[in-house]
Amino acid sequence: MKNLIIRHDWSLEEIGDLFYLPFLKLLYQALGIHQRCFALDVVQVSSLLSIKAGVCPEDCAYCAQSGHHQRAVKSEGLLGIEQVVVAAKEVKERGGTRFCMGAAWRSPPEQNFAQILKMICEVKKLGLETCVSLGMLSKSQAQALKEAGLDYYNHNLDSSPEYYQKIISTRTYSERLATLENLSKVGIKICCGGIIGMGESIADRIKLLQTLANFPQHPHSVPINYFIPMLGTPLANVNSIDPLDFVRVIAVARILMPRSTIRLAGGRESMSDELQVLCFCVGANSIFCGEKLLTAKNPTIAKDRQLLQRLGFITNLIC
Ligand code: SF4
Repeated sequence: MKNLIIRHDWSLEEIGDLFYLPFLKLLYQALGIHQRCFALDVVQVSSLLSIKAGVCPEDCAYCAQSGHHQRAVKSEGLLGIEQVVVAAKEVKERGGTRFCMGAAWRSPPEQNFAQILKMICEVKKLGLETCVSLGMLSKSQAQALKEAGLDYYNHNLDSSPEYYQKIISTRTYSERLATLENLSKVGIKICCGGIIGMGESIADRIKLLQTLANFPQHPHSVPINYFIPMLGTPLANVNSIDPLDFVRVIAVARILMPRSTIRLAGGRESMSDELQVLCFCVGANSIFCGEKLLTAKNPTIAKDRQLLQRLGFITNLIC
């Protein structure tokens, strides 16, 4: 068996060739790589808690939390440490292994930062891995999060650089990349992925995957969201994509980033069991579990547990 080469120099043509392979050839290649890098009966389970919702100053066209859109999610202040610890304990008790906390901010405000650091310390004490998503970070903020014991930071690129400017005007792709670099420099593991089905072209999906795969180190986790239009947002009327195109994105991500955890993130509520199974077949090996994903619906824990059991995955999920 040939050694597995982890590459960081993928060309658009090479990725395009993978993307357009006959479906079963793509499935076969992705599953082969997945089998070499991961146990086929294990799926990683993360939980995500919204610790500060709504009235975000950013104008992401897909997001109901943006203060720029009509019918935006109502504003909620930063949760207290106690509330976060209670939620994290529940996750631990029902078998979760990673606790992610997301705040609708452009970047973490100075006056809230100490509280965030404390939350990370308290969740770590429970024996859970920690991940936060707080927006853009300076080098010193990244360093402080590292010292608090943070394991992962989520900062998605959403789409290609070209499509990004069509859906967000309040920040740039380069600012996004600068935060990712600040995190890498201090040794925090990166969770970075995108959203598929916002009206972007296949070329945009290929460019997003190229950007992720050509980072000096592949993101540790790559969350891929299946876009669900949100009422009141500029993308509310976008046509849904061919689900098999979503599976192709997962498969190509697995081939390009063999050792990354590929997570089915937002949008699972509207995916059939069969579509999720196809995604697992081509290399997805992580899900978000819990009935709410920030402000969006997610499958019930009972439904997820049943699906994982039907597939013979080893899971500790308790409902
Ligand atoms: S995606 Fe994040 S940064 Fe963009 S508007 Fe929503 S909460 Fe704010």
